[in-house]
Amino acid sequence: MEAFEREAGALDEAIRDFLAWKGLGVSCRPGCFACCHGWVTLSRLEAQALLPHLTEAQRARVRAEGAWRLAFLKEAKDNPRFPERFFLQRRPCPLLEGGLCGVYAHRPLACRGLLTDEDPRYCEPGNPHPAPKPHHGPGHHLRVPHRMARMAMERLWEEERRRYGFLLLGELASLLYLLEEGLPTSREEAEDRLEALGVLGGRFGYQVV
Ligand code: SF4
Repeated sequence: MEAFEREAGALDEAIRDFLAWKGLGVSCRPGCFACCHGWVTLSRLEAQALLPHLTEAQRARVRAEGAWRLAFLKEAKDNPRFPERFFLQRRPCPLLEGGLCGVYAHRPLACRGLLTDEDPRYCEPGNPHPAPKPHHGPGHHLRVPHRMARMAMERLWEEERRRYGFLLLGELASLLYLLEEGLPTSREEAEDRLEALGVLGGRFGYQVV
């Protein structure tokens, strides 16, 4: 089993066990997809694991949306309110299909760890929860599953460093687009490419570390 599949399976199981142990019921449901308008960050290894599972229609949407997101990132990556600004653009993930994740079994770790037990209306842009509870982390989302996803990502980051000698982090649609276009595997060439696109570094830009 590949590293991503191993981490994703273990994360799903750990989250299930945690929710059962705490007696928490999540309110995330099929057809509820406000969070799929957010900026999802992932590593090259995660994106590479997802890429072979995309249909032709999904690839076409990724190409169009990925190019748009790179342009948006170039212009706004140093804006401290970048995530909120992007959310308010109301641009759904190009892998969202009919209100459902079109790659559910292969979705990124960040998507798996973003859960809430609150009213889904607080997931809508511009409608923050007035009083998140202590077990909530970012906004009104469950703190522990979010942390579990982050730890799974960090283990994959180590694997990526072992394979390539460096770690590359970027946004979901644009990174899939760049990989399809042929993103170099050497650190120097990858940095040059991202620098030329104007999306390297800054507070919310691509990271090569
Ligand atoms: S990959 Fe799936 S769950 Fe994640 S943002 Fe896209 S549609 Fe939503």
